[in-house]
Amino acid sequence: MTKTVFITIIGRPNVGKSTLLNTLLGEKVAIVSKKPQTTRNRITGILTKGEIQYVFTDTPGLHKPHNLLGDFMMKVTGSASEDADVILFLVEAGVPLNKAETEALKKASESDNVILIINKVDIADKNVLAQTIQRLSDEYNFKAVIPVSALTGDNTEIIFKEIEPFLVESPHFFPDDIATDQPERQIFSELIREKLLRLLDDEIPHGIAVVIEDFKEKKDLLSVRAEIYCEKEAHKKIIIGKNGSMLKKVGTYAREDAEKMFGVHVYLDLWVKVKENWRDRQALINNFGYSDE
Ligand code: GDP
Ligand code: MG
Repeated sequence: MTKTVFITIIGRPNVGKSTLLNTLLGEKVAIVSKKPQTTRNRITGILTKGEIQYVFTDTPGLHKPHNLLGDFMMKVTGSASEDADVILFLVEAGVPLNKAETEALKKASESDNVILIINKVDIADKNVLAQTIQRLSDEYNFKAVIPVSALTGDNTEIIFKEIEPFLVESPHFFPDDIATDQPERQIFSELIREKLLRLLDDEIPHGIAVVIEDFKEKKDLLSVRAEIYCEKEAHKKIIIGKNGSMLKKVGTYAREDAEKMFGVHVYLDLWVKVKENWRDRQALINNFGYSDE
């Protein structure tokens, strides 16, 4: 009899949700960044181990919305936790809970399907870790509390064990050999955004969107044209870099990752465009692919 389980990963930005998803899947699906709030859409990762299919959803972090894009991210986070059989709630040892986390933990405590994951044990003080486990288990209601390092993979296998009670007898919803239901185009734009966020450092915060304008698959070549949208002329200059050097780096790294993931040669053509205040304009948000549907 086949079994399926829907798992939602939630937690504050930067707590390590995408890293955990990638570690559990053993493949790069969600983008990982040192900057918070880079996972904009729900990312679904799928892992099939024999009879069991695990369907993971990574969500944008718990935070206060500042604009339309923020509102949209909160909506997605809410619906992802309602649709799940089990919720992995990530916190970081020794880092005080923010208001959104406290509220979410209170709410999560009312249901019987929450596993608390205490992440980044590789950099946590042992005493602080022990105190965190004690305090949170006393105050809230969890099915299990698991200290892990999503980065090194330490203790992450236990998560599969603790998910066992939530398995539901059912057919598999996805083919057994796929790792994500995200269209390849979106993986591509996420890869490019990840490189931009990493290489640009703090110079340009979150006012960047990547739109895949053209996506052609030939025998063993993927030909992709992407447009990078930013909010100011000055940002455009920085993204392009001196003699195009920055854009070239972004393109090279994104191409190398994409070639590894898809196992084909990739031709990547990058363009930079300015659209002012795109974050507060609903039409543009829909245009950039962040709609509800
Ligand atoms: P998200 O915003 O919750 O999806 O967080 P990410 O997965 O993007 O991770 C944010 C940052 O924390 C990245 O720099 C990760 O490398 C880092 N990180 C994630 N998990 C761990 C961990 O277990 N240990 C350490 N030391 N760093 C981690
Ligand atoms: Mg993330």
